[in-house]
Amino acid sequence: MDTLINQIPCPILLTDATGHILMTNTNLLQLVGGTAEQWKNKPLEDLLPPPSRIFLQTHLWPILYHEALVKEIHMQLYDSQKQRVPVLVNCQRIFRNGQESYYWVFFVAYERSQFEAELLKARSEAQQMSENLAQANTQLNILHKQLSLYTEGIEVENRELSEISQTDPLTGLANRRALEKTVTNWQLQSNVGICASVLLIDADHFKRVNDEYGHDEGDRVLVELARQFQESIRLSDLVVRYGGEEFIIWLPSVDKTGAEFTAQRVHKHIRQVQVAGKPITVSIGVATSVNTLDPELLQELITHADKAVYQAKGEGRNRTIHFE
Ligand code: GH3
Ligand code: MG
Ligand code: MG
Repeated sequence: MDTLINQIPCPILLTDATGHILMTNTNLLQLVGGTAEQWKNKPLEDLLPPPSRIFLQTHLWPILYHEALVKEIHMQLYDSQKQRVPVLVNCQRIFRNGQESYYWVFFVAYERSQFEAELLKARSEAQQMSENLAQANTQLNILHKQLSLYTEGIEVENRELSEISQTDPLTGLANRRALEKTVTNWQLQSNVGICASVLLIDADHFKRVNDEYGHDEGDRVLVELARQFQESIRLSDLVVRYGGEEFIIWLPSVDKTGAEFTAQRVHKHIRQVQVAGKPITVSIGVATSVNTLDPELLQELITHADKAVYQAKGEGRNRTIHFE
């Protein structure tokens, strides 16, 4: 039996019920130094650094007396150089020759202790990282909120700017820029119509209105004209203040007949716009094109309509001429 214990490759010793050493195995002696004779009858405490000694007294013995067994308890032993060696301890009560004895089996746990220390360090690092991450996340959320507020602000400003830059302030009508955009967008559609027309409308003798009734009255008339033009069109058409007392009506997918029909509606509607009881009249030049995909479409239509207006003025005003 004793020989067998000496062959077991871990430190083992036997104590009596008071903790005095009865026997040590070879492996234990290799670890703690000394001989079996030297250790015999010495208290187990002599092998233990103070914390393990206290632990033995306050914790292990009470359990052993009560339960007769402890398992995988962390302790330390002094080695032959008085260095502390981390060990795991199992201890079991036995009765040997009728005498209450205790078998102490130690497992040297250098690597396990180191592993546990690394594990603890890694855990605290991970905790720190997760705290840092949470903090960074909070900051990111704040930044994100600030950014979206800022972006919203820019979008609102852009929208307002774009509305301002595409609207005539006096009449609220679209301006040239809006017209160009509208025509280009229409041309980019997949089902562009086979023709398009414009009406160029120029108020007759408008200078007289200003001269005789003042600029404010002229402004009022322009606003009224704009309102009546709006009343004369379809939803898909666009009324534009092109300059001073000149307006354009963009008629997508409208042919010559349709355009002249709209022009007649304009003449009819503006009879309601009067100055000192006399109706305002306009001269309208109409142009139609079938080159709907031509990048110069709008410019060409305006040039032609302008010539037609010139002709209408020459022929006595208050009329519509279609450019041929
Ligand atoms: P015609 O029949 O040949 O077109 O004569 P007209 O007097 O309308 O032509 P003209 O181009 O000589 O004059 C246009 C006038 O429109 C001159 C300008 O004072 C007036 N006008 C241009 N813009 C405004 C504006 O915003 N407000 C007012 N009140 N008048 C304007
Ligand atoms: Mg004019
Ligand atoms: Mg005029």
